[in-house]
Amino acid sequence: MNQIHHWVGGQAVPGTSGRTGPVYDPARGEQVAEVALASADEVATAVATAKAALPEWRATGLSRRAEVMFRLRDLVDANRKEIASRISAEHGKVLSDALGEVARGLENIEFACGIPALLKGGYSEQAATGVDVYQLRQPLGVVAGITPFNFPGMVPMWMFANALACGNTFVLKPSEKDPSAPLFVAELLAQAGLPAGCFNVVNGDKVAVDALLEHPDVAAVSFVGSTPIAKYIYETGTANGKRVQALGGAKNHMLVLPDADLDMAADAAVSAAYGSAGERCMAISVVLAVESVADELVAKITERIPAIKVGPGSEPDNEMGPLISAEARDRVAGYVSGAADEGATVVVDGTVGAPTDGFFLNPSLLDDVRPGMKAYDDEIFGPVLGVTRVATYDEGVELINRNPYGNGTAIFTRDGGAARRFQNEVEVGMVGINVPIPVPVSYYSFGGWKASLFGDTHMYGPEGVSFYTRSKVVTSRWPDPATSAVDLGFPENR
Ligand code: NAD
Repeated sequence: MNQIHHWVGGQAVPGTSGRTGPVYDPARGEQVAEVALASADEVATAVATAKAALPEWRATGLSRRAEVMFRLRDLVDANRKEIASRISAEHGKVLSDALGEVARGLENIEFACGIPALLKGGYSEQAATGVDVYQLRQPLGVVAGITPFNFPGMVPMWMFANALACGNTFVLKPSEKDPSAPLFVAELLAQAGLPAGCFNVVNGDKVAVDALLEHPDVAAVSFVGSTPIAKYIYETGTANGKRVQALGGAKNHMLVLPDADLDMAADAAVSAAYGSAGERCMAISVVLAVESVADELVAKITERIPAIKVGPGSEPDNEMGPLISAEARDRVAGYVSGAADEGATVVVDGTVGAPTDGFFLNPSLLDDVRPGMKAYDDEIFGPVLGVTRVATYDEGVELINRNPYGNGTAIFTRDGGAARRFQNEVEVGMVGINVPIPVPVSYYSFGGWKASLFGDTHMYGPEGVSFYTRSKVVTSRWPDPATSAVDLGFPENR
């Protein structure tokens, strides 16, 4: 059995805890590797390694840090296929989708190449006579990233690119379900010239996560995963005095108005619901169809579903791979088999006819889904699209705003006024106008509202730079006997 180790101090380090977890090929349903699960002591070693590397890296010049990011950019670019095939082999997503993930991750490294400009502070000459005031942005220290299974390549890049470029050192705890892609990227970081110890990977589960949350030398934690764990990470990390950004789950609604291009809307709904087998935090899981076009839209979605090619991610023609595990497949299938009893209409039943040798499901379509049904209320995180019929735009927006999640949403319409009203009124962090998966480009920042994000800053982009730095403001004056005097009053700026 292939053994997957940790990466500490610039090299692979076998686990010593005696605990391991299984890594599967979800397309075959077979275990292909064993990943080491770190103990608290192993986490402490990784943190100590990152702490030891900090003084030198923090003192490294900005252009040299940028140079490492430029080199990493070229290495990731040259190794797109290798990274994507590691993602596909353990996650199951098809290779073309995994390549898209690498491309969107790479954007974040490209953004971090501009770190000298991003870290510029302000300078106010003569804030008072002979007094200048200026701002510095300094790294936090050792920072940790805890990432989900569904983007094992991209989400770590959301975090470490800015964190390292800002002068922090990093400990990553990737998902134990598909850890090989981030370990390969750790090798690329070393090849790019990042000094040993600046980037470390500890594989593990709750034991490793808790050790990071409790470690006094971890200054900040970035988390992406499900809402209950995000809330736990935020509460525990902040209670331990850490800066935390914790991105959670989602239930993304796509509102289709009667004037929308219904073919475009159906294409978008199918792509965004079933891409990556629905295992995306920005997947569309509910279509809100205004009643007058609902039948036509459901028909258009239904006719597109049989054309979706479901099968192993390694075969180039396939468009949708398996789910991550047998447990995930069975849980998702439960929403489809229970939908009719809840009062929904099963238009396409994806629990039948899928390949049986892996963790596959076919796409499912449920109509007449309403709040109060499990299929509406829960984040299903699988290839199940629900249609909820609404009478008006207002009813649609009201449903979106009432939902506890607020990650992504989209409106499909030709009416610019309606779209503008939607972007203003909707209580969601990322909004698409005729764009079903509005993941912001890397020079904006990514983050949902409500139960989709705990913390104050969104991830990557400018807010990522803010998250990974502390501001310091210096007020300075140079000796000048003419202006020196004893004055017990509170300084006024004159
Ligand atoms: P998860 O919450 O189960 O796991 C995320 C990370 O937390 C993993 O590294 C895991 O090892 C760790 N973890 C799991 N249980 C833990 C526990 N009890 N205590 C401490 N740590 C624990 O999420 P997942 O299943 O890997 O990923 C899917 C979820 O992530 C979905 O809910 C999806 O919406 C969400 N997600 C959100 C975003 C976003 O940007 N908002 C992006 C991707 C995924």
